Amino acid sequence: MVLTTTSCYKCVGGTISCDSCAGNLIKYGRDIRGKQRYFCKKCIKTTVLFYTYQACHVETNPKIIALTKEGVGILSMARLLSISATTILKRIKNIASTLFPPTLSNNQEYEVDELKTYFLQKSNPIWIAYALEKESRRVVSLAVGNRSNFILNQVLQPLIKTYPKMIYTDKLKNYKHLIDNNIHSIRNKSTNHIERMNLTLRTHLKRLNRRTLAYSKCVIMLESIVRIYCWSI
Ligand SMILES: [Zn+2]
Repeated sequence: MVLTTTSCYKCVGGTISCDSCAGNLIKYGRDIRGKQRYFCKKCIKTTVLFYTYQACHVETNPKIIALTKEGVGILSMARLLSISATTILKRIKNIASTLFPPTLSNNQEYEVDELKTYFLQKSNPIWIAYALEKESRRVVSLAVGNRSNFILNQVLQPLIKTYPKMIYTDKLKNYKHLIDNNIHSIRNKSTNHIERMNLTLRTHLKRLNRRTLAYSKCVIMLESIVRIYCWSI
């Protein structure tokens, strides 16, 4: 909660304002522990002065996003933020569900590739299929699963709808059936940018590091982490 010299709206002493919108607060009863609650009329949120549980602070989600992008694992994050690992997992899923791919423009060139990793145990391989816009180098579409036509189609369909100039892929046979010949190329070295992006992902996201035990325990978390890395601001 921010201490300011703004005069109060009603009866809170003129020294506090809302964390979210800096609006004035009014008293709003007490919480289960007997602490004074406050209500912001501007953003319709309630708050207390000093939270016992760290996860309630408004800056927690931005910190989780920043640490995820720095490749910090779930348990390390829980220790650093003094929050339970379960809360971190829930927050990551929630944050990822609010993120969407960037808007695509027509007539662009894309590179599509799959990145192999594991979930639960080393005998369970799984792939992150994704597309990179060649000009902006942004990840514009992604899906997690096996290398089936279904998963690859989830990545390709949004691209095909925008009438792409060309889609560059590796020599995986599935692509021949999924992409029209006129806009499909498997030319040598045409997927250099996405191959380099694979290395960046492996370096920055702990669960994609090779030769570690840090791989994902669940597919939803894997997808959530990649979505946050690629699409959060
Ligand atoms: Zn507010």
